Amino acid sequence: MAQIWVVGEANTSYNVTKFKMAYHAHQRRKVKTIPDPGIFAQMRSHTDAFWAKTWRERSRWLVYERNPAHDDGQIRRMLQAMQAHREFHPLWDRLDELHGQPAVVGGINALLHVSLHATVQTQCETGDPAQALPALRALEDAGFSHHRAEHVLMHALTLELADVMSDPAPSSPTRYAGRLGLIELRLRNPQAFAKRIRETARNAPCICGSTIKFKRCCRDWLSLPLAPTAWAMSLPDAPQYCTTEYLGQAADDDPTVLLQNTAAVAYALERLGDLEGGLAALRQMSDLVGEVEETRDQLVPFRHNVFQHFWDFAMNHGRGCEEAIALADRLLAAGGMDAQARLILELARADLLARAGQRREADAVYTRALTGAPARLQQEVARRKTRLESLLKARHEQ
Ligand SMILES: [Zn+2]
Ligand SMILES: [Zn+2]
Repeated sequence: MAQIWVVGEANTSYNVTKFKMAYHAHQRRKVKTIPDPGIFAQMRSHTDAFWAKTWRERSRWLVYERNPAHDDGQIRRMLQAMQAHREFHPLWDRLDELHGQPAVVGGINALLHVSLHATVQTQCETGDPAQALPALRALEDAGFSHHRAEHVLMHALTLELADVMSDPAPSSPTRYAGRLGLIELRLRNPQAFAKRIRETARNAPCICGSTIKFKRCCRDWLSLPLAPTAWAMSLPDAPQYCTTEYLGQAADDDPTVLLQNTAAVAYALERLGDLEGGLAALRQMSDLVGEVEETRDQLVPFRHNVFQHFWDFAMNHGRGCEEAIALADRLLAAGGMDAQARLILELARADLLARAGQRREADAVYTRALTGAPARLQQEVARRKTRLESLLKARHEQ
């Protein structure tokens, strides 16, 4: 029997999930093991270091040289799920550099998220439970992408995890299979589904087949919207690169959505103290912004936002200054800004030069700006210069 280690704090999968848990924390204090007769046995309980190594060695093979002879089921499915979440790639590359901290982004445990993907994939491929694949098919027929359809199944799986954790009884295959069956019924026969909901009293045993009261079991999650737009991946804590409406309509591999989620990963890695990883995520954002510009015809200010994110990072940590300067150069060359925006960008570039140790070049820009800028901007220039001086002084004294 595979063991699942669960610790406090951290939302497992996506924003509709209410309970808090994290996974893969063998050595932490609040550890408990879930009694499991089978449902969770398919989840992988390898360490982060194992997945870091497997990702490094195998992900390339998985994508470019898939060979059925090398197929080993669960690890393949886990790698496929890791691959499908492009926003997490900078995180997978750094899994063994996080010093045992769980890879949590905006409260979402990324490794647990893909582990849940791999688990429902296993259930669909093996037909155990039998209700998994029909539920997935019903979702796909209703217009869900494969990825979002899996998110719905994963939600049923996380409900089961939550139930087992709040009441340390063994997981219930009947209850889980019943919930999967309800997903299918709701989509294939909405009238029959609505009738069952209507005719079930709040205090009656739940329609999933558990012995728990309906109001305490499935009533709440069955009232969640079951439309593809509601099940897109959106990481909390990300800066807003797209509206909720855009997110709901966009494809799973839409570069704007990936850009927003990758920004959340960049923040998370920075917060976890992995600056190398944070910088890699910022680089992925730079690449994505190029893809955004190819796919969206309106003028998008995303490159400026990505530059701002880079600037914050470089000024805070003194890393990535050269790349941020190159980004500023590209923005300045592209033009399309009024005089004020251009000046602000030139000053931001000068800040980076100073931070990278090129004081003379930076001073030249400030001096030029102070003499050339219109009176209303002189104050801004002087303020930035003073602030930078004190920042650099403080760094020097440290
Ligand atoms: Zn996912
Ligand atoms: Zn129920």
